[in-house]
Amino acid sequence: MIGYKHPCRYCDELIPPNSKVCPLCGRVNPLGSLRCPNCRDVVRRQWKNCSNCGISLSITCPYCDEPTYFGDYCYECDARLMVVCSNEECELEQPPIGEQCKECGKALEPLEDGGES
Ligand SMILES: [Zn+2]
Ligand SMILES: [Zn+2]
Ligand SMILES: [Zn+2]
Ligand SMILES: [Zn+2]
Repeated sequence: MIGYKHPCRYCDELIPPNSKVCPLCGRVNPLGSLRCPNCRDVVRRQWKNCSNCGISLSITCPYCDEPTYFGDYCYECDARLMVVCSNEECELEQPPIGEQCKECGKALEPLEDGGES
């Protein structure tokens, strides 16, 4: 028997194991547990804070300004909850946890493009 499939945690369609991107909805990291955007420890949808690092798992989306669960994607507008440092020598992609880049300290701004076509 081959082709044992797992459900994508975003769209619930069955997709091949080890998928890095869901072939059906295009989201990254479609398999496995939700992870804390800060420390990558496993978290649950119902949790208000990460049990490991304690950050709040509910944030205001920087793209649509709606409160959402702090997963990899905004549950309101589907934007990927990542910002890229605008410092050209840094450009670190990171979750919008603080006001500043965790690498170089430059103030963070939301990405321009709000997702895939
Ligand atoms: Zn999917
Ligand atoms: Zn954490
Ligand atoms: Zn949003
Ligand atoms: Zn930076």
